[in-house]
Amino acid sequence: MAHPFFTVEMLPARHGDALWIEFGDAGRTRRILIDGGPLHAWPEFSARLDRLPAGDQRVELLVITHVDTDHIEGIVRLLALPRAKWPIEPMDIWFNGYRQIAAQTDLGGREGEFLSALIHRRAYDEWNHAFGGKAVVVPGKGALPRVALPDDRGMVLTLLSPDKAKLATMGRQWRKDVAQWELDPGDLDAAWVQLVDETKFHPGAELTLGPEDLTAQLRAQLKGTDASAANGSSIAFLAEYAGKSCLFLADAHMKTVCASIRRLLAPGQDRLRVDAVKMAHHGSRNNLTPEFMQLVDAEHFLFSSNGDKFKHPDAQAVEAVIRGARRKPTLWFNYRSPFNERWEADSRTAHATYATRYPPHGEAGIVLPLLA
Ligand SMILES: [Zn+2]
Repeated sequence: MAHPFFTVEMLPARHGDALWIEFGDAGRTRRILIDGGPLHAWPEFSARLDRLPAGDQRVELLVITHVDTDHIEGIVRLLALPRAKWPIEPMDIWFNGYRQIAAQTDLGGREGEFLSALIHRRAYDEWNHAFGGKAVVVPGKGALPRVALPDDRGMVLTLLSPDKAKLATMGRQWRKDVAQWELDPGDLDAAWVQLVDETKFHPGAELTLGPEDLTAQLRAQLKGTDASAANGSSIAFLAEYAGKSCLFLADAHMKTVCASIRRLLAPGQDRLRVDAVKMAHHGSRNNLTPEFMQLVDAEHFLFSSNGDKFKHPDAQAVEAVIRGARRKPTLWFNYRSPFNERWEADSRTAHATYATRYPPHGEAGIVLPLLA
């Protein structure tokens, strides 16, 4: 492979996620798109997609991690375009819609119904292709699903979340949501009106055990218990390419992610070494535990959020990374915000224990070159 590359771009998706991954070599660029941010980030999101070279719109994989608006709205907007006008041409689409969840349990969410209708009508053959059209889910036992993207020279994705229990919980939530709304299938104008932010978070108090270097106070503040069913249904995975790796954690729950990571460890191995982690849930303290910091050995930590709505990232989560990382960490932010700028000054001192990367002043979005 001549001059392989692997880059992770956090697009300016406001308080949400939109991740653009490129890999390949001098001969060809491959791409993965994870989520599309909220609807009001559509201008920036679509502008990035429009920068694809003419005649080369192929995307190996489109992942819609879960149904929350800060991840799904941009994709609904995108797929609502006539297929001939899609700025991308996905080879496979990973999304757990009502039907996939129902097949697992017996249970569907509102935004999810919109997206399901779109995929069903416009890209049915590309739906969860790697999973035979069924749910993207971690099985209760046996090996974690490993997907080698076809014809791409080596990108391997290992599924970490959701598990069956998280999908079942989402199914119940979905059914509850569906009971509350009335919508004619295919009436997308009505669908847009209903696309309002329904994200809710209910932090609990449970805490797992973790590394010694986190103070008792900090441990107490890392809740690690995000009660959102939608977040718990997040598709999260490990991506490995040309010797480089990144954990893409969506808004997944740490118990699920950590349980999967443990299944990946070889006997006697106590941690997973990766190059980068896209932090779960925009750096919420509800989606980070000392257990995770103990299980993962990484250099780069990515925080996707402008701080709107939930003031992410939480200071406790950033501090836990700085104190708990097993190597000197570099923190990557796709915006400068009042909620992340505070970390810059200490990172620039002579004896800094961590480094920071921000977009240039006045700009948003950032690219981590894992391999360039
Ligand atoms: Zn989110």
